[in-house]
Amino acid sequence: MEGDRADVLILGAGPSGGAAARRLVDAGFSVVCLEQGSWPDRGAYRGGELDWELTGLKQWAMDPNVREGPSDYSIDVTDSDYGILNFNGVGGATTLFNAVWPRFTPSNFRTRSEAGYGSDWPIGYQDLLPYYERTDREVGASGLAGNPLYPPGADFPLPPLPIRKGGLLMARAFTRLGWRWWPETNAILSAPYDGRNPCVQRGTCNQGCGEGAKGTADLTFWRHVVAGGGRVETGARISQLVLDDSGLVAGAEWFDSAGQGHFQSADVVLCAANGVGTPRLLLASACSRFPDGLANGSGLLGRNLMLHAQSLITGIFPDALESWQGHNGSWIASQHFYESDEDRGFLGTCKWAMHPTGGPLAQALPLGGAPVWGPAHHAHVAERLGHAVYMDLIGEDLPFDGNTVGLSATETDAVGLPIPKVTYRMPEDSKRLLAWHAGRAVEALNEAGAAKCEVIPYVPMSAHLLGTARMGDDPATSVVDRFGLAHEIPNLGIVDGSVFVTSGGVNPTSTIVALASRTAEHLIRNRSQIRRPEPARSVFIPCTLEIASGQHQEERVGVAAFDDSERARLSDLADLLIPGSESRPAPSEVGIAGRLLDQVIEARPDLAEPLHRAVFESALSSPERLDELAVDDEEARRALELAIAGGYYMSPEVRTAIGYPGQIAQVVSPDIYPNYVEEGLLEFVFQVGSNDDSRTKGGGQAKTNGTL
Ligand SMILES: Cc1cc2nc3c(=O)[nH]c(=O)nc-3n(C[C@H](O)[C@H](O)[C@H](O)COP(=O)(O)OP(=O)(O)OC[C@H]3O[C@@H](n4cnc5c(N)ncnc54)[C@H](O)[C@@H]3O)c2cc1C
Ligand code: SF4
Repeated sequence: MEGDRADVLILGAGPSGGAAARRLVDAGFSVVCLEQGSWPDRGAYRGGELDWELTGLKQWAMDPNVREGPSDYSIDVTDSDYGILNFNGVGGATTLFNAVWPRFTPSNFRTRSEAGYGSDWPIGYQDLLPYYERTDREVGASGLAGNPLYPPGADFPLPPLPIRKGGLLMARAFTRLGWRWWPETNAILSAPYDGRNPCVQRGTCNQGCGEGAKGTADLTFWRHVVAGGGRVETGARISQLVLDDSGLVAGAEWFDSAGQGHFQSADVVLCAANGVGTPRLLLASACSRFPDGLANGSGLLGRNLMLHAQSLITGIFPDALESWQGHNGSWIASQHFYESDEDRGFLGTCKWAMHPTGGPLAQALPLGGAPVWGPAHHAHVAERLGHAVYMDLIGEDLPFDGNTVGLSATETDAVGLPIPKVTYRMPEDSKRLLAWHAGRAVEALNEAGAAKCEVIPYVPMSAHLLGTARMGDDPATSVVDRFGLAHEIPNLGIVDGSVFVTSGGVNPTSTIVALASRTAEHLIRNRSQIRRPEPARSVFIPCTLEIASGQHQEERVGVAAFDDSERARLSDLADLLIPGSESRPAPSEVGIAGRLLDQVIEARPDLAEPLHRAVFESALSSPERLDELAVDDEEARRALELAIAGGYYMSPEVRTAIGYPGQIAQVVSPDIYPNYVEEGLLEFVFQVGSNDDSRTKGGGQAKTNGTL
């Protein structure tokens, strides 16, 4: 079957495709988008539910290899230091993203000439500025104007979000240290905007925003595209792009969820499948004219993958910060030490941002740390819950030829497209960068009064997928030109993060969408000069595939039966892991093996089978046997911990005992937060100025309670 020929065909319904599509539809182009996922169902998000943390680790996991949803494809990361995070559906990864929305600084576009690393971009900050401003208005960015370290431009459309108690502690500390900070810019509404509701600070942004306050691309772009006459074909897995006889791209082959093949023809094709999905598609579309992948005459397609180095520093405070709540997004940021400085022993830029730390399950099973079971469990959770904040360091990742996205030689997805194979080794500069910045971040957290700091030196996964089809003026050293159009195929464009030349030290999406909007503007201005492919012909023989269906996000299978003896043993095991105390009920007292177990399995059917094994294998119910289980059957032990802690912290009695009311809607009102402007906390930022070198090179004395 062949769809009506479109002016522009967009591959992928994330924010990059959305920004381009919205601009094109506004200018009167007919636009069709092919997207393998579906439109989001906001009612299905679990943020307001008891099981939000449990489902966040599976159905709403950031890692597609864990999530295994029906629209996901696996990614081979066996030769990679990092896993790859994404989301596949209308909105793309913005469905789960934090919505931190900073811009590249002017220096990020000129790393070779200014700091001696990477390559200069063919464009500069000023070229992108109108598109940054346009897309800020489209997403409804919230921020505070006037930051001397933020690149110049118009004010943000909305005022900043509250910085919360944790942000205020840190702001005061930064001020005492003389390190510049600023309330973060987020793609999250601080007031009603564009028919959307403001943020309610529920803090479950990584599992989808039920309020529609977060700038997810389905709302900021695709909703408007459809209202303007554009078409989004969901459940459409693209298998390859097809050229006409003259070497122009004629359209794309795709399969619907029933396995029926289709061909969509278009005058222009824009790839928007992200820095992993786009090189995958272009490599898989190799043909006699382009045997190494479409538009890959330079040999650079899939190379120079950049993923951002990320370190998480947890500061644990004696103060009650209610830090399970709050946008995530970030509260405040510091770019005091942002610019690259070779004297520190590494190259690259790095930004710091502060985030909330999640609910009780996240404290019981801390990211990058070992859980504490037995009598010390309660003190461990109590110390953290509502008292911990993250400082998230985003470090520039340098481009290396050997860090690549290729195709798996052995594995394909449901339509026979080879899955991507990521080969990535963390550069030495990234390790040194993170170690240096983590040291300064610990100083800042200590200054703010943290009783303890814990450092995850690097987070072995990334959602920032950049550089695999870089832009440039020279076809020998780049895949696309300065407008994102392929040097070798003039009606093929790339609008996602693949085109980045360097990665900057900030979250990339505001730059991705600004670039996409600029590519669209270029097509609009040059509409009459665009070479059109031959009228669509029979380039594709429709066929029907057997599409294997994955586990659906919302698919609920019946509660797998646990008999009475299993439940009794599970109850004993739960009391071993989390013994009751004077102020905390034992799991057996709150029905851990009864209604809570049923609720857990209802939310996480995948746990049932390993849990049966755990109960069977731990028949003796002793601490020693539980230790052995961790060695003998790691999956069963993990399922046991998740089910017991997950169920325990869903119990209303336990929530009352630990002072955790759940994730509550708190409509944003700046009045309920102390006013940092009146307190004069930003005045020193102006006094220090933006170029005070003495302040940006050093760092004070580290205190002893950091773990570095
Ligand atoms: C947990 C998480 C947190 C993040 N936090 C931030 C943040 O705070 N700030 C920030 O700037 N960025 C953040 N990001 C990154 C941000 O989401 C991405 O940079 C952005 O979504 C990239 O947009 P994109 O349109 O290029 O690609 P994507 O959003 O990945 O969209 C690509 C789309 O293409 C579709 N597609 C791919 N291949 C095919 C195919 N073969 N057939 C059909 N469809 C296909 C996919 O299904 C997907 O919907 C985060 C990401 C994650 C996962
Ligand atoms: S904290 Fe705000 S942005 Fe995040 S999920 Fe809640 S309402 Fe949405």
